[in-house]
Amino acid sequence: MNAISSALVAGLDDEQRAAVLAGRGPVCVLAGAGTGKTRTITHRIAHLVASGHVAASQVLAVTFTARAAGEMRGRLRALESCDGGVARLGSVQALTFHAAARRQLQYFWPRVVGGTGWQLLDSKFAIVAQAANRARVGTGTDTVRDLAGEIEWAKASLITPEGYAAAAAKTARDVPMDAAQIATVYANYESLKARGEVALLDFDDLLLHTAAAIENDAAVAGEFRDRYRCFVVDEFQDVTPLQHRVLTAWLGERDDLTVVGDANQTIYSFTGATPNYLLDFSRRYPEATVVRLERDYRSTPQVVSLANRVIGAARGRVAGSRLQLIGQRPPGPEPTFDEYPDEVAEATGVARAIAALIEAGTEPAEIAVLYRINAQSEVYEEALTAASIPFQVRGGEGFFSRQEIRQALVALQRAAERRPDPDTDLAGLVRELLEPLGLTAAPPTGARARERWDALDALAELVDEELTLRPELDLPALVAELRVRADSRHPPVVQGVTLASLHAAKGLEWDAVFLVGLADNTLPISHALAHGPDSEAVEEERRLLYVGVTRAREHLGLSWALARAPGGRQSRRPSRFLNGIAPQSATTAARPARSGSRRGKGGPARCRVCNAVLSERDAIIVGRCSTCPSNLDETLLAELKDWRSRMKDELKVPAYVVFTDNTLIAIAESLPTDAAALTAIPGIGARKLEQFGDDVLAMVRARADG
Ligand code: ATP
Ligand code: MG
Repeated sequence: MNAISSALVAGLDDEQRAAVLAGRGPVCVLAGAGTGKTRTITHRIAHLVASGHVAASQVLAVTFTARAAGEMRGRLRALESCDGGVARLGSVQALTFHAAARRQLQYFWPRVVGGTGWQLLDSKFAIVAQAANRARVGTGTDTVRDLAGEIEWAKASLITPEGYAAAAAKTARDVPMDAAQIATVYANYESLKARGEVALLDFDDLLLHTAAAIENDAAVAGEFRDRYRCFVVDEFQDVTPLQHRVLTAWLGERDDLTVVGDANQTIYSFTGATPNYLLDFSRRYPEATVVRLERDYRSTPQVVSLANRVIGAARGRVAGSRLQLIGQRPPGPEPTFDEYPDEVAEATGVARAIAALIEAGTEPAEIAVLYRINAQSEVYEEALTAASIPFQVRGGEGFFSRQEIRQALVALQRAAERRPDPDTDLAGLVRELLEPLGLTAAPPTGARARERWDALDALAELVDEELTLRPELDLPALVAELRVRADSRHPPVVQGVTLASLHAAKGLEWDAVFLVGLADNTLPISHALAHGPDSEAVEEERRLLYVGVTRAREHLGLSWALARAPGGRQSRRPSRFLNGIAPQSATTAARPARSGSRRGKGGPARCRVCNAVLSERDAIIVGRCSTCPSNLDETLLAELKDWRSRMKDELKVPAYVVFTDNTLIAIAESLPTDAAALTAIPGIGARKLEQFGDDVLAMVRARADG
């Protein structure tokens, strides 16, 4: 081993080192979350290059998202410093399957096909709509999107239009309409694409054509295989049959392949991904070096122990590959389990816990809130906005930027302009207005239609909540209120708290993670439960929870709410995956008050006057039930408002960025006289204390003295 290589393996454990130093042949790293799989492959690439096995430009590293590919390039560049750049690790190609195929096709196409070019179909929507029209099935936006999803699944699974119906039945797919009709749309779609002068290729065609070009043309295969000699695939448990076919074409008779993955993190089955290639790797390559890693370097033993318990209950073939992870980091706090009366209280409780972490020094960018479906982001956007905590919504836009929500606001606005009869039941009217946009009585089938339904349903719930708080609102005032909420959302901040779905969190890590909405029918999601309690669909939901738990380095909060909206029927149960895992005390709603502190990490907020659990957002920030007597110092409140108005002009920010009304009310009620009392108010963290603490305390003290 030369000096560079020994520097490269210095920071690895024995098993990781074995994987890094294994000869050129096939290597399979089969290991749990946080055990250093991604780290191992970057070091392996660096080692193969540094030791002269392969030139950096001959390595093709494939990952699943552009973000992960960027991350890998970054890590390789960092390793480059080990050898002063001699090995030129920066020229390793780290790409997604699609990006790699696209490049190759651009190069080989003229030779394989000839003069006529091709054009990438960025969105297949218009052509699927045409295909649906020809097949005389619905062409509504969501139907078309769901049909597109089915076509993508079929192509990724190497299923032809003729084979679609049988395959969908065999895999018990959640189909948006009759399978035979979908098959017709799929066939129409393929012929429409091929009709024009220039071939139209969708993303899956890039892969199909690349595989075919290499499979069918010996010269192309020869040239390609000369160019790339070493292949590495991360997250191999989520490879599709189509991607696997491309990989096989790339390799030919060679076996210079390293794969890493964790079958227990398979969470993309609905797109056609399958862990079977990972699980069957050593059957396919009997001579492969197989390495299992069980030391978890990411998370504290407390988090690791919970992860082991969550996945320990899994059943089936995939579960057979799991290992007990062993936490390597120093101990940290125990994960917390919190039950709340409703989602608003849950979001506010989580926002308070986040504020406490930030105050104690955790960077907002090192904190994530993870949920099952994107529509769940709404209450968290609201709660974080109210607490003046910066955030970004990953893998989707913020709630009010979603297409269906923008459409809904337009529809409500139009109705408001028609001045409806003031006696109509407003909540009912809103649901009626949202119905043509997709808010049917029961959730529809089809993933995209369901996503739209979930978002509209969340909006309807938000309206119900608003009307419970302020029954005097009429439709124009309600619409105005919704617009204010939409406009007052923080613009996304890159360094803020991440709000993301569990699916979008794959491979990532944060110091603190909040897994929210852990109620049955949300996780596991209801349409998975519809396949039966022991179904593979439910097992995949369990793996989602495992992925979520293992994203946390140190702090992990798990929570759920018994009802959706404040005052709603508390009919929900904690997720079945927490049975025997969450302490019994967490699952009893009527817990005794926590000793004195209104601001313990997590846990429901309580009224400072009567000690009841608070569920309305405003009440939580003010720290008092709206019905309990207020000891508000009106003069102080007026002074605080004047001061805020001067500050906002001075800092050129909206008023709420200084302090929200509710925060000012809380100050004028609780009259904090020192920093500790001030930061006990939700929405006031270390940063605000530093920025405004002196001013505010001086005002409070002046009132007390005067
Ligand atoms: P996932 O299954 O979630 O993708 P992974 O197995 O790919 O996880 P990595 O992301 O490579 O895990 O590593 C997890 C964390 O542990 C990273 O922060 C990484 O830097 C660190 N780590 C990995 N191996 C070691 C090691 N030998 N010593 C110290 N830290 C390590
Ligand atoms: Mg990884």
